[in-house]
Amino acid sequence: MKKIALEEHFTRPELSPYMQYAGAAERSAAFARFQERLLDLGEMRLEAMDKAGIETAVLSVATPGVQAEPDANVAIKRARIENDFLARVITKHPKRFAGFAHLPLQDAAAAADELSRCVEQLEFKGAMVNGHTNGRYLDDRGYDPFWERVEALGVPVYLHPRDPFDAPHMFAGHRELLGATWAWTVETATHALRLVFAGVFDRHPKARLILGHMGETLPYLLWRLDSRSRAQADDEAAGRAPSEIIRDAILVTTTGVCSHASLACALAALGEDSVMFSVDYPFEDCDVAAEFIESAPISDAARAKICHGTARRLLRL
Ligand code: ZN
Repeated sequence: MKKIALEEHFTRPELSPYMQYAGAAERSAAFARFQERLLDLGEMRLEAMDKAGIETAVLSVATPGVQAEPDANVAIKRARIENDFLARVITKHPKRFAGFAHLPLQDAAAAADELSRCVEQLEFKGAMVNGHTNGRYLDDRGYDPFWERVEALGVPVYLHPRDPFDAPHMFAGHRELLGATWAWTVETATHALRLVFAGVFDRHPKARLILGHMGETLPYLLWRLDSRSRAQADDEAAGRAPSEIIRDAILVTTTGVCSHASLACALAALGEDSVMFSVDYPFEDCDVAAEFIESAPISDAARAKICHGTARRLLRL
């Protein structure tokens, strides 16, 4: 079945100073192989896509990119260069590649303007936000102008993991828990819940957020989020339940969780219009991801929505 994939990364040598991970994954042998594939925007990538039946990959800068830059002006210039580079790559393969904007979120107004430029002039499909920006999360009221622009443009924001801002004591002595194994899940699920509980989706009801990794555990926890947030609330004033906000505003992709049990949970919790196929290339294997979705025990109508239907509609591809 034809597939669209939404969490597919690239990098450039200029961005490698930003790619320092707490688990020191960037110094591992596996990372050298990833790096070769991150830099390739031609033959190797297209061959992997062809084998897995991936028609279109929406490309994005690998985490964290310029969001790790301390100087806002440098981030603004650098993001523009990366987006222009990606636009040229897409021009060479317009049927195979699409783009998510890389944003200098050090400055909310500049990020909003760069998103507009990317969507309106470069025909990008939304934004890939690599977690917090120097410790600042997207629920900060300073980002309201950014969310207003997201709504006005009608494009989704894909929230991707990065290392936590500080080193939580709970991980001390357990390097194996850092990075994508666990720490990124805690960080990214927490970031998404900050948006839910801070009322970002109440103030910006048309905004849509995409989470990778089968929703960073949130589909599994909806009942508990509702039950315990109600029990811990300061007053009786009942706003929308977290599960309701999550079902309305958040879609998830299957990246890096090739498990039929997890897929069944995401579909049951969010519905078959809120789950989309993706790979997380090159960190995950296109063939494994494709085999997982092709063999999933679901209807062909659901499989078609997951593989391409929902992405085509959401991203107006
Ligand atoms: Zn990723």
